[in-house]
Amino acid sequence: MKKGLNTICTHEGELNDEQFKGAVSPLYMSTSYAFEDVEVKRYPRYFNTPNQVALSQKIAALEHTQAAMIFGSGMAAVSTALLAFLKAGDHVVLQKTLYGGTYNFVNEEFSKYGIAYSFTNGLEPEDFESKIKENTKVIFVETPSNPLLTITDLEAVAKIAKKYGLVSMIDNTFASPVNQNPADFGIDVIIHSATKYMGGHSDICAGAVASTEEHMDRIFQLAKNLGGSLSDYTVWLLERSIKTMGIRVKAQNNNAQHMAEYLEAHSEIDKVYYPGLPNHPGHELAKSQMHGFGGMLSFELNPKYDASLFQKALQLIKPSMSLAGVESTVLSPAQTSHALIGPEERINQGISDGLIRFSVGIEEPEDLIADIEQALTKVRDGKIGLKV
Ligand SMILES: *Cc1c(COP(=O)(O)O)cnc(C)c1O
Repeated sequence: MKKGLNTICTHEGELNDEQFKGAVSPLYMSTSYAFEDVEVKRYPRYFNTPNQVALSQKIAALEHTQAAMIFGSGMAAVSTALLAFLKAGDHVVLQKTLYGGTYNFVNEEFSKYGIAYSFTNGLEPEDFESKIKENTKVIFVETPSNPLLTITDLEAVAKIAKKYGLVSMIDNTFASPVNQNPADFGIDVIIHSATKYMGGHSDICAGAVASTEEHMDRIFQLAKNLGGSLSDYTVWLLERSIKTMGIRVKAQNNNAQHMAEYLEAHSEIDKVYYPGLPNHPGHELAKSQMHGFGGMLSFELNPKYDASLFQKALQLIKPSMSLAGVESTVLSPAQTSHALIGPEERINQGISDGLIRFSVGIEEPEDLIADIEQALTKVRDGKIGLKV
């Protein structure tokens, strides 16, 4: 029976408590299991404990794939997925706007393994196709991207990958499975930092990969050697978190749309980047491949405001490194997530020093607006630093 989003979030893969008939999946912390038969050896680092298997089923159902695995972090998921399909002498094409950690992984590590890579010049399908070489094996996209929320055409990228026999991969973290299911467009491997919308409460660090049985088996063969598995306690917490992911993310979509429209109409805000705004260059594409526009947006303050003072003046919205929690947070990409890539590459990626990335939570939008208004007033009046 085909189930809808919130039913999958709540129930898919859940374990039955045969002994006590408890309402939620029991937590199995065992690292050792009696052999059922010699083929099934349960062990956390083999990614096959009862709780891992249950949660993997939920994530596969959410992403419309055959199988999934859960990792100790988003970067464990990204690195294991990429390395599973790349060896010395191979080449990978990556979208130019990538999560900072993924960019650093590729830039700092790939030369050690003899893996060549190219970043696209733009986000159009031909920007990806033009970088493909004889030895290209993987094409990697991220949409919506961090922090400018650019949109890449999933169907077009998947078609290019098929044409050249490449494995297509996406970092689907910003959209979450609620807003985007790349497998429906032919993307092969779907990666999440589950630290973000899947966890949703800023208290779990985890990652996930979803794909076909065949691809997941290949990823598993490397994963068991690299050892990036998650504690079953965290797996269990993540299962609980995902139960509310559908309603959380939809509330965040609504709030982000509301905040984007407010910021866009604001005289002190120069620019707003949100795919739900009709003037966003990726709006039509986003409409065609996303179920919702997401809870992330970015904006540029008028340069007469100091962006870091503005963030300090906020009271409800916290400056914070991570994103996607039920609480609203902001950060300055130039000072944090994109600090390591250097000023030149930042300008190349369109990330100004005054850019503020806004992860919109589930609070009442009126309260978020009031917080932004009081912060702007405080910075304008030079009152920043005073406790109210
Ligand atoms: C946070 C994040 C990651 C990395 O995830 P971790 O859980 O921090 O390792 C990867 N991609 C995107 C888009 C992210 O936001």
